[in-house]
Amino acid sequence: NRQIRLAARPAGDVKPQDWEHVTEPAEAPGEGRFAGRTRFISLDPAMRGWLDDRPSYLPPVGLGEVMRAGSVIEVTESNHPGYRPGDHVVGTFGVQEYVVSDGKGALKVDPSLAPLSTYLGALGMPGMTAYFGLLDVGALKEGETVVVSGAAGAVGTMVGQIAKVKGCRVIGIAGGADKCALLTEELGFDAAIDYRAEDVRKALRTHAPDGIDVYFDNVGGDILDAALTRLAMHARVVICGAISQYNNETAVQGPSNYLTLLVRRARMEGFVVFDYAPRFAEAARELAGWIATGRIKVKEHVVKGALDEFPETLQMLFRGENIGKLVLELT
Ligand code: NDP
Repeated sequence: NRQIRLAARPAGDVKPQDWEHVTEPAEAPGEGRFAGRTRFISLDPAMRGWLDDRPSYLPPVGLGEVMRAGSVIEVTESNHPGYRPGDHVVGTFGVQEYVVSDGKGALKVDPSLAPLSTYLGALGMPGMTAYFGLLDVGALKEGETVVVSGAAGAVGTMVGQIAKVKGCRVIGIAGGADKCALLTEELGFDAAIDYRAEDVRKALRTHAPDGIDVYFDNVGGDILDAALTRLAMHARVVICGAISQYNNETAVQGPSNYLTLLVRRARMEGFVVFDYAPRFAEAARELAGWIATGRIKVKEHVVKGALDEFPETLQMLFRGENIGKLVLELT
């Protein structure tokens, strides 16, 4: 069983030597357990945070432990009454080729309803993050102006499209002309701002002249600061993530413009998607409906390769090389 384990706690960017590639004998599934072969592994910005030894919403990955990751596996052998060979299961099974599980926290998925990778993206954790972050935490109302950063990514593409379904004006912030063109030409965003080439603050003034009602922040740093200057009265700032800060070796850059929250009677609130687990099925049904009717387009970036390509694939997120949900398909 090929596995990727954490060898050292990274300082700054994750380096190849922070990982250990090992081959272990494959374990047989005991009573009440099933075994399966990994098909798709999810790459998530949050993984960077799990490598640091500091308190968070989940314990850090231990040194020498198999890297934590969501994945879709295909059951090959089962001593569990709920699973049969050929079943596909999504769960937090780690970066390894072969998995043994008792089924806790796992969910059977149907490849005839959606491609397997989509259960890690639009119908999985990023889809849930967009849905609950925007509708629950952001308390979005029809006709409002929404700005989302990291807009061409897994969460961002979903946030913008859900906001369009809800009849909002949507502005996406992303890196590069290609990503911006995707947002406005394919995904129905009203405007896109290329933060690498444009002054974000000025562009927000142009595209959101009446201010921002919901700012969904995936990136933090300077872009958060720019968005804070443009809040409308009673705006909601949703703190989903801060990828621009995850590789910092110094303290996280805080917003210097937070007093607009006072002036605009606005609020800023963070959330962790796992808290919404009891409502995932309800959200997945609604999202699947919008996907089926073409109101939401699923964007996925599938890298095909061996398990050993995990470390390099993860770095694509921090270089902005993915469009939509990044997954590694084991071939
Ligand atoms: P994405 O698919 O959006 O991939 C990451 C993207 O971030 C890259 O493609 C890149 O796009 C952008 N990026 C990278 N570095 C920077 C930078 N320095 N400044 C600005 N943008 C940068 O990832 P996800 O959709 O999976 O995750 C998006 C965010 O949501 C992350 O912050 C993640 O931690 C968070 N998240 C939070 C959850 C929660 O429960 N709170 C759950 C899931 C995700 P570009 O080319 O545009 O720069």
